[in-house]
Amino acid sequence: MQQRIGLFGGTFDPVHNGHLRPAIELAESFALDHLRLIPNHRPAHRGKPTATTEQRIEMLEIATSEIPSLIVDSREALRDKASYTFDTLSEFKNEYPDASLVFFMGLDAFSQFDSWYRWQEILQLANMVVIDRPDSPLSEWAAALIETQAKQHGRKVAGAKAGVIERHSVTQLAISATDIRTRMANRQSIDFLVPERVKQYIVQHGLYS
Ligand code: ATP
Repeated sequence: MQQRIGLFGGTFDPVHNGHLRPAIELAESFALDHLRLIPNHRPAHRGKPTATTEQRIEMLEIATSEIPSLIVDSREALRDKASYTFDTLSEFKNEYPDASLVFFMGLDAFSQFDSWYRWQEILQLANMVVIDRPDSPLSEWAAALIETQAKQHGRKVAGAKAGVIERHSVTQLAISATDIRTRMANRQSIDFLVPERVKQYIVQHGLYS
């Protein structure tokens, strides 16, 4: 059967349960062989309260170590400069020529998808799943693009190699990394917002305080 690989990018500063719960659900719902969490590139000179690239990766590794469907892919984070989604997807296509790639993004980001570098070609490389987020309406432009793609490629990722844009809902957890950094700075608890071992890592390394 055709391999199906999911890609989910973000800053993950830090990774939290609002990332992890949807990631697990997406891997299950789309029958993914695995879902890659891809921390983005950030300039090394960014100061606190931001974790270093290595720390962001380590927290992701800790958070996913017991979840076989989730893999940390640090290629973008460890590059010496920022790269485009188009470039990363092209790399994956070379590595997995026969796989179906599924790129996940929030509805907020999707509404500006037409400003992305070579966005039309992104749709030739991968399928896309747009994750519904509360308070993020679908723009007219984005709704029209979904319809155009549906006419050519269908509406469901299952069975499609590229070009499909499917909307999907996950369990909504109103958690953000910004909120976690703020709570740490205010010496408030972050229990149950991040995995216990990630919390221990944050405390041990004095992050965000
Ligand atoms: P920050 O608060 O620093 O902006 P963040 O919590 O939004 O960070 P990111 O690392 O920027 O996290 O997000 C990575 C991806 O995860 C994005 O596609 C974003 O839409 C999604 N995401 C973040 N938080 C949630 C959440 N609570 N529920 C669903 N998706 C989320």
